[in-house]
Amino acid sequence: MRPHVVAGNWKMNTTRDAARKLTQAIVAGAPKDPRVLTILCPPFVYLRDVAEIVVGSPVALGAQNCHAQPKGAFTGEISAAMLVDVGCTHVILGHSERRHGLGESDGAINDKVHAALAVGLNVILCVGETKEERKDNRMERVFSRHIAAGLAGLKAADLARLVIAYEPVWAIGTGDVATPEQAQEAHAFIRSFIGTSFGFVASESLPILYGGSVTAATAAGLFSRPDIDGGLIGGASLKADEFLAIAKAAVTA
Ligand code: PEP
Repeated sequence: MRPHVVAGNWKMNTTRDAARKLTQAIVAGAPKDPRVLTILCPPFVYLRDVAEIVVGSPVALGAQNCHAQPKGAFTGEISAAMLVDVGCTHVILGHSERRHGLGESDGAINDKVHAALAVGLNVILCVGETKEERKDNRMERVFSRHIAAGLAGLKAADLARLVIAYEPVWAIGTGDVATPEQAQEAHAFIRSFIGTSFGFVASESLPILYGGSVTAATAAGLFSRPDIDGGLIGGASLKADEFLAIAKAAVTA
């Protein structure tokens, strides 16, 4: 049985005070069920505040990005080891806002995946098609490229520290959530592609999350599908009640 994962991507939101209050509310209500892992991914500058509050709770701490190099002259960047140093266990890599907004290539993402795994972080790798790519029915080509390039050089054993988030770009922050059928179809393809590349055991144990305008109202329908193992949640992760309802939907799915 794969663990379910619900991760909140706060993006560039909250203040320090709001981040602390949101964390306190989520820690107070987070499911204490070993079948579900709840992860909070605040902005870098609030990681320490959130780390202090989640310690000893069932809530884990993740970052939204890292640099591929361990240290050096990279002004404004944060290394994977620094994330571990402040209490992170997870890092989101390859988010579409970085791929499309900041021009992050598959190769650059692959370097970051290796850097994160090398220091013991778990990686949440985002993949997903644009509206145009879906219109042209190029989804499978996009998933195959994002996964083959993003995971190049990894061994099957490395996948024990990997989570994939299927995030259709057209669904992120738009309110235009994928239907459970659309998401399940994408997840099943991703799982079978992983199986071909890394073997059955790795693919069956891999949590694959759906991300893109998930709300408390849509979570249960998505999470009930056989290959959807939870969600990467943006906007709805900024409201404690909404995020906790989504996490609870992952327990019962
Ligand atoms: C995200 O940015 O990862 C995301 C899924 O955002 P939203 O839930 O707001 O669409």
